[in-house]
Amino acid sequence: MANILILGGGFGGVVAAESLARQIPKEHQITLVSRSPKFIFYPELVRLAFGKCEPDDISFDLREAMLDRRVRFIHAEVARIKPESRRVMLAHGEVDGELPYDYLIFALGRRLATERITGFFEHSNHLLTVEGALKFGEALRDCGEGRAVIGRCLDGRLPGPVYETAFALARFFEERSERERVRITIVSPDPPGLQFGDGDVARALRTALDEHQIEYLPDFPINTVKPGAVVTSNGHAINYGLLMLLPPFRGPAAVTGLGFTDSEGYINVDRAMRVQGVERIYAVGDCVNFSGPKMGHMAVHQAEVAAANVALEIAGLQPLPTYNHEIMLIIDEGGQESIYLHKGLWDNEPMIVRQGRFWTWAKRVQEKYWLARHS
Ligand SMILES: Cc1cc2nc3c(=O)[nH]c(=O)nc-3n(C[C@H](O)[C@H](O)[C@H](O)COP(=O)(O)OP(=O)(O)OC[C@H]3O[C@@H](n4cnc5c(N)ncnc54)[C@H](O)[C@@H]3O)c2cc1C
Repeated sequence: MANILILGGGFGGVVAAESLARQIPKEHQITLVSRSPKFIFYPELVRLAFGKCEPDDISFDLREAMLDRRVRFIHAEVARIKPESRRVMLAHGEVDGELPYDYLIFALGRRLATERITGFFEHSNHLLTVEGALKFGEALRDCGEGRAVIGRCLDGRLPGPVYETAFALARFFEERSERERVRITIVSPDPPGLQFGDGDVARALRTALDEHQIEYLPDFPINTVKPGAVVTSNGHAINYGLLMLLPPFRGPAAVTGLGFTDSEGYINVDRAMRVQGVERIYAVGDCVNFSGPKMGHMAVHQAEVAAANVALEIAGLQPLPTYNHEIMLIIDEGGQESIYLHKGLWDNEPMIVRQGRFWTWAKRVQEKYWLARHS
């Protein structure tokens, strides 16, 4: 009997557990460990902040969902992994101590490195947790006149929610006939030019931003947040009345110093999702060292690849399936300017860009389908 441990109850961990349970015989034991008893559908956090849904609409209970799939769930904090003894140290939870494994799938996501931006923790809102989204929602409803600054810090590798928040904010004030009260500025650490380079997607974004009179300020690498102002590393500052920033991301703490991460703490994996330099460990999702943005659909595909390869290893065969890195993103503008883009990140295929109201609807359907299928 093999004992497979999956760490993390997000997109990567849930899909890895489900996929593995379908592929291996029942005598093997699959265990999922997560610090949160709930799965959260992060792409809906912008809508949560704007009061368009409730926390219960975008989450489900992991223990119940896993029970249906004969996966054991442990609610605990992963402190450290110990590849040399094939054990994982858990703390603050249902199990305090070490759990052994024969195969490990690591899916703990990324760490929010708020400590890299002075004053971020004290003064900035973000949208990366349920609590963060609800707090930003409160700040929004209390905000007076002035400038709303929405943006990313350097290494905040998630462009979609920045645009979606700016669009939602514009619509929030437009619907109340108060749009002139607030100036909306998107800040980005990237060089001039809109995100995703030139071409169709930049044109589509530009049209959508102009439609809502949203300013775009590139080359603005924030390194300090003060009450009422953000400041860049080269001393430029702008004032804000409302602030939402994505902090820098880093790899997860549980693998720091183990020798298989890059300089930002992301885990080095090959295309079969095997962790480089150690045996029987796979990693998937935001925690791996692939280039580009960190996205849920990538975590899902990587989890499917890792699960298929663990199943092969258990059957005494060589890992075979490999992952192909691509971006598939809907930027929901809330109406006819919503954008879909698809691009292979490891090939030279041209980017596909579509724009229209259909994509707002498609994003809602995708969310409902996901939650119905996995809860
Ligand atoms: C506002 C927002 C909008 C987004 N929009 C999109 C979108 O439109 N499309 C898209 O594809 N992606 C989107 N994403 C990105 C997507 O949500 C992430 O890429 C995805 O969640 C990554 O999945 P993961 O399983 O790797 O990590 P996560 O989903 O972060 O899951 C990690 C899990 O590990 C647990 N965990 C972490 N550390 C520990 C520990 N030490 N011990 C125990 N458990 C731990 C966490 O509780 C969590 O359950 C969005 C994200 C946000 C925040």
